[in-house]
Amino acid sequence: MNASFEFVMHADEVHKSFGLLHVLRGVSLDVRLRETVCIIGTSGSGKTTFLRCINHLEKIDSGLIEVNGHPIGYRERKGKLVEDRERNISRQRTEIGFVFQRFNLFPHKTALENVIEAPVHVRGVSKDQAIAEAETLLARVGLGDKKDAYPGKLSGGQQQRVAIARSLAMKPALMLFDEPTSALDPEVTGEVLDVMEELAHAGTTMIVVTHEMGFAKRAADRVVMMDEGVIIEEGSPEHFFESPTHERTKTFLSKIL
Ligand code: ADP
Ligand code: MG
Repeated sequence: MNASFEFVMHADEVHKSFGLLHVLRGVSLDVRLRETVCIIGTSGSGKTTFLRCINHLEKIDSGLIEVNGHPIGYRERKGKLVEDRERNISRQRTEIGFVFQRFNLFPHKTALENVIEAPVHVRGVSKDQAIAEAETLLARVGLGDKKDAYPGKLSGGQQQRVAIARSLAMKPALMLFDEPTSALDPEVTGEVLDVMEELAHAGTTMIVVTHEMGFAKRAADRVVMMDEGVIIEEGSPEHFFESPTHERTKTFLSKIL
């Protein structure tokens, strides 16, 4: 058991390069239980890479990332951190929900079938129980009447809400959202943000990369600004609206607000 267990997510001095490109240059961030943290920052600043490292879709070069007190992708053996087996990594990954820009639902499965897929096949939940839980979740994201619809018959906003329900179905300790509305038509952005806001207020622990500052203001406990692979500023949403201190934050906000 680790001292940092009070944090659902604990990142300390994370570095990550792709070849010669040093993308993450010492990212440290702690996220507490029930906290919603929004990450903002210019394109290319490393936001997606950081989320992918948290979920161990990318291996970090140095530093540490723990989820619920366990180092992601590594385990301790004889006092040293050694790389974990793929099987353990997969199991750890089920603790983390990841909602992407693109929803990647199974096109040949209904909304309900998409949501029960992982609980049944990965968690071994009985089909009846998975269906009951999926129906509750689909109702929660406002799609109780669309459970038998195929993704192709749903709007982008509806598909993204199914994707959120699908992630929640695994009862993750932590939800990661990577610009979940940036690929959507503006008229359906709000319905997805509303669902995320409800999750935040219900106490879901979430890290959300987004430039939707209205959402951040309503839902975030904290906002962090990433720039060139480091966090350059962090504070309350009000801080970012009213008195950002860093020049680059001011420039960035003046462009998106
Ligand atoms: P953001 O999400 O903030 O826009 P990314 O994390 O996607 O930024 O990318 C940060 C930098 O890392 C960019 O320059 C991007 O081109 C580069 N990058 C991301 N993934 C890879 C990869 N798999 N291979 C090489 N370069 C990558
Ligand atoms: Mg990105």
